[in-house]
Amino acid sequence: MGCSKNLVDSEKLATQLHASGFKFVFDRFDTKAKTVIINTCGFIGDAKEESINTILEFAQAKTDGKIKHLYVFGCLSERYKDDVVKEIPEADAVFGANNLEEILAGLKADYKKELVGERLISTPSHYAYLKISEGCDRSCAFCAIPLMRGRHTSVPMEHLLKEAEYLAKNGVKELMLIAQELSSYGLDLYKEKKLAELVAKLSDIEGIKRIRLHYAFPFNFPDDVLPLMRERANVARYLDIPLQHISDNVLKRMRRGHTQESTKKLIEKIRAEVPGIALRTTLLVGFPGETDADFQELKQFVTETRFDRLGVFTYSEEEGTHGAANYKDDVPEKVKQARKDEIMQIQEKISLELNHAKVDSIQDVLIDSETDEFYVGRSEFDSPEVDNDVLIQRSAGELKIGEMYKVKIINANEFDLLGELL
Ligand code: SF4
Repeated sequence: MGCSKNLVDSEKLATQLHASGFKFVFDRFDTKAKTVIINTCGFIGDAKEESINTILEFAQAKTDGKIKHLYVFGCLSERYKDDVVKEIPEADAVFGANNLEEILAGLKADYKKELVGERLISTPSHYAYLKISEGCDRSCAFCAIPLMRGRHTSVPMEHLLKEAEYLAKNGVKELMLIAQELSSYGLDLYKEKKLAELVAKLSDIEGIKRIRLHYAFPFNFPDDVLPLMRERANVARYLDIPLQHISDNVLKRMRRGHTQESTKKLIEKIRAEVPGIALRTTLLVGFPGETDADFQELKQFVTETRFDRLGVFTYSEEEGTHGAANYKDDVPEKVKQARKDEIMQIQEKISLELNHAKVDSIQDVLIDSETDEFYVGRSEFDSPEVDNDVLIQRSAGELKIGEMYKVKIINANEFDLLGELL
């Protein structure tokens, strides 16, 4: 459950279990599995609810004798362990989020150090997430992640390179670099920002055709990755950089550490240094004290900046955060939702215009899957699951999943592009 960082944790657990002789499936509807392990998400209200409902569903399945064992770990149980233990007596064991060895011991499996750098993946075999650090040292007022994932801890570069080489040898062509906060990679371990060095070394690995950066932070951004995006064909001109807001009043209350001016300057710099780059961002509306004037500033910013991809969350008060401790959740739910809808309407129009501008362009498209009618792929500007697809008629000929093809874009809508094989 939850984000791609949780997915990597699940894959690492599965890799260790496999080495201890366990068979495993990632399909929650596979009824053959008699042991169920739930990796939970504790990010915000909706995600927590989904995790709790899933635990309850499998607790019932255990009571009904459909499964034998139920284990729970991840962010929700890291945050609310005692409650989960008390409320779900059906669970054989409940673990936190960051202790693979403890979970394995609880499952009577060994932790094999020699497997560091190896990973069985649950994504299609041609792409994988590479989690380059854990935790976060920032203290954004709305965010409970540091409470669940702890301080920022970079994964040693040699481990990441070994893992990427292993993945490339096993057919992975595209790597999504992920973290709670990507920009700080290396600051703890090497006392300097090392993201660019890591990306350069990953880009030299044979077989890696595409490297994509997610979850960058706009303060202290490692500018030295930009030339790599501009100059290296296998470093995608793509950046996911959650900004959350643009009004100085709200950014200050959110304790984001960046300002309207510094944010706009950074976006200008990124676009100047990497022409044609696709920018994805995430915004948060309805933060306590967000005035209509603040929201107008945000709307203006979205309209002017024309992000390629954009997601919006509504503020959810999370206990233990600075926001919950210091601010009344004073923006009515209806207003939060209306503001989210307004931003998404603006973005849908922008997305349609930007997609139309891609018609007649030539794109390198990596094929992810197929339907009865189409091959479904992605260009350098689209990350799996969150961005656009490029659809190619099946009649175009036999295409291989996991291969990259030159495609001419012939049509577009706000979500997808239609392509013709060249
Ligand atoms: S940067 Fe802020 S929002 Fe992101 S994980 Fe850290 S505290 Fe949370």
